[in-house]
Amino acid sequence: MSAGRYAPSPTGELHLGNLRTAVLAWLFARSTGRRFLLRFEDLDQSRVRPGYAEQQAADLAALGLTFDGVPLVQSTRQERYAEALTALLPYTFECFCTRREIAEAVSAPHGMPGRYPGTCRDLTEAERAMRRQRRAPAIRLRGGGTETATDLLHGTITGEVDDVVLRRNDGGTAYQLAVVVDDADTGVDQVVRGDDLLDATPAQARIARLLGVAVPTYAHVPLALNADGVRLAKRDGAVTLSTLARHGIGAAEVLTMIAASLDLARSGEVVTPEVLLGRFEVSRLPREPWLITPVPHQAG
Ligand code: GLU
Repeated sequence: MSAGRYAPSPTGELHLGNLRTAVLAWLFARSTGRRFLLRFEDLDQSRVRPGYAEQQAADLAALGLTFDGVPLVQSTRQERYAEALTALLPYTFECFCTRREIAEAVSAPHGMPGRYPGTCRDLTEAERAMRRQRRAPAIRLRGGGTETATDLLHGTITGEVDDVVLRRNDGGTAYQLAVVVDDADTGVDQVVRGDDLLDATPAQARIARLLGVAVPTYAHVPLALNADGVRLAKRDGAVTLSTLARHGIGAAEVLTMIAASLDLARSGEVVTPEVLLGRFEVSRLPREPWLITPVPHQAG
């Protein structure tokens, strides 16, 4: 059965921008009769903090968002990722680059910011054997060419496929692989997420095709920005449910703020997600970022 999902990384509390994306993902899924799943993307253990998955789930529930089934936790799924990686191995190469080497190559003349510079793409077996003695390789997709996907807000998106990491050099599964495997395994055919991930889509579509699974339909939604026009972050002030609650702003009021930002409610109007569902129309959604002037952190 078809499904949508919200897939936060439990690295901290959800802020208003995250919560708005979650509300949108719920609306997109429920308005099209889909199941709605929660998934915790906790593969980067250096950033994950205990307790945040539970808090994120509680915050989403406080807004009135409902999920089907139990949340999927990526760190429990290593066997599935290993299987998928094995299937993809013919389309990969070993990469021995450090972050710094990539940054240097990318900033050189003709470097392409944000893309892998291709350093290890065509190493000989002898070169690889030598490098393996000094550093464990990451495994990258042998990208190139373009992929196309359908986005309900951006139309047809076509982009070049980058040589994204599938397995990190510490042996951990990379997000790019896990996201495709998880969506496919759980019947997710509609992916609603922040538009900062627009550029990741061609590579994910390629991975899906190589694995022989369907490419989902996407909706990349605008992010929340702070007063400086920079992506909202927790340091911007009271932007999480717990900090807003300390200012006397409860979850119901936050839902109203989010709904108002989507032109789905008047400011101050009491709403529920079900009420918003009756008003939700993709074609009428604002396409610009949500500009937030956060309540400052309380001193002391
Ligand atoms: N875990 C990612 C994030 O929190 C979302 C990935 C996705 O929705 O595909 O930004």
